[in-house]
Amino acid sequence: MDLLPIFLNIRDRKCVIVGGGSVALRKANLLSRAQARVYVVATSIGEELEALCRASNGTTVHETFTPAHLEDAALVIAATDDRATNLAVSAAAKSLNIPVNVVDEPELCSFMMPSIVDKAPVLVAISSSGTAPVLTSKLKEMIEIVIPGSIDRLANLMGSYRGRVKDKLADPDQRLQFWQDLLESEIPEMVYSGNEDAAIEAIEQRLRDRLQAAKTGRKMGEVYLVGAGPGDPDLLTLRALRLMYKADVVLYDRLVSDEIMQKLRPDADKIYMGKEQAKPSVGQETINEMLVRLAQEGKRVLRLKGGDPFIFGRGGEELETLAQAGVPFQVVPGITAANGCAAYAGIPLTHRDHAQSVRFLTGHLQEGTLNLEWEHLVREKQTLVFYMGLSGLQTICEQLIAHGMAADTPIAVIQQGTTRRQRVITDQLRSMPALAKKTGIEAPTIIIIGTVVNAREKLSWFGP
Ligand code: SAH
Repeated sequence: MDLLPIFLNIRDRKCVIVGGGSVALRKANLLSRAQARVYVVATSIGEELEALCRASNGTTVHETFTPAHLEDAALVIAATDDRATNLAVSAAAKSLNIPVNVVDEPELCSFMMPSIVDKAPVLVAISSSGTAPVLTSKLKEMIEIVIPGSIDRLANLMGSYRGRVKDKLADPDQRLQFWQDLLESEIPEMVYSGNEDAAIEAIEQRLRDRLQAAKTGRKMGEVYLVGAGPGDPDLLTLRALRLMYKADVVLYDRLVSDEIMQKLRPDADKIYMGKEQAKPSVGQETINEMLVRLAQEGKRVLRLKGGDPFIFGRGGEELETLAQAGVPFQVVPGITAANGCAAYAGIPLTHRDHAQSVRFLTGHLQEGTLNLEWEHLVREKQTLVFYMGLSGLQTICEQLIAHGMAADTPIAVIQQGTTRRQRVITDQLRSMPALAKKTGIEAPTIIIIGTVVNAREKLSWFGP
């Protein structure tokens, strides 16, 4: 991050604009919306700008800029087309430690003006750190569409209850849960549709219920077993995203990408479970116990897993423990690595001419060997997909050939599929082990075997 986004309180503070034209007017407008006293310095100042300054309890000064104009200023904006003046304003402000913005001259600025979505008291500020102003405008448009028009009313209503909720619910976790539940309830919709009285009644009821619950003891939390997909955050489901933002504590695996971790609620506790292939570095028992304990403490626990939790994810085992302990849970499927990697590598797993079935297998070696029913795997028109198969790659290729699969059957190895680091190599069964070694391909990888792999030549669309 090159810039620190902050929201500055400039109410009743002197804010200086150097320049008297239309750009200065726009900036003055913005400052006066934030209730600053606008102080304009320019030899010629437009009428509208004059009027705006007066209305803001500010002043206009018909002079050439000098550093003296910056006395007691909270910030300064240079909006002139004279480079020498812009330079002088920037230098003077910097020497006095006053935040300065020079319109369209990022190198002279100590702060940038963001694009804003103004639904005061709700404000969204957007910046591309000066790299792509059109992109920020587009983002602004997208945000305008998703933010309800009356979100200001909801924010004001919530604001009016803040003090009372704080008095009644002393525990910060309980307060957080109260507000989150309120946002998930019918109350926002009541406010948006103008039915504020009903909303107030509903809030009062919730507050009473919550106090009652606090007296009768803590309520049981719940566990969300969520598949995070293979890596690309755009492949998360909407439900996964919603629960990711709701959870108080997150237990996550090694395979969950950094990009996805960034989508979690920033203040959630994040606990790394660090699974390497099938053997967890934190024992499965410990994970199961932690899930139960955290839920019993009343927490909303997110168990976040790569891909889909029910495909080579031991999700079933974790749920069994929860069910036994009477902990409520829900499961959110994710895009499994086989599906994600196949799509992003341009390999359809089934195809009318090539494969009528597909099998997902684990290629994880146990005590150095792979005990699979090889004879059942060698079938016409069947695609095989191996998870955790890189260390067993040689065995897989050798065994399939030994059990009758053609040595020239196409095979693809996809590393970190769907992410920006995706690598794909394709070859024939007989030569893939050597190629994989040569290219230094690394786990996590998905291995796809079958003539469908040839489709990649035509269907590859993602990555270099
Ligand atoms: N539950 C997961 C699989 C967990 S087993 C799912 O449904 O995808 C872990 C194995 O998944 C890894 O060893 C690797 O074989 C595969 N895998 C997971 N993410 C992957 C990715 N982005 N690219 C390639 N393989 C991946």
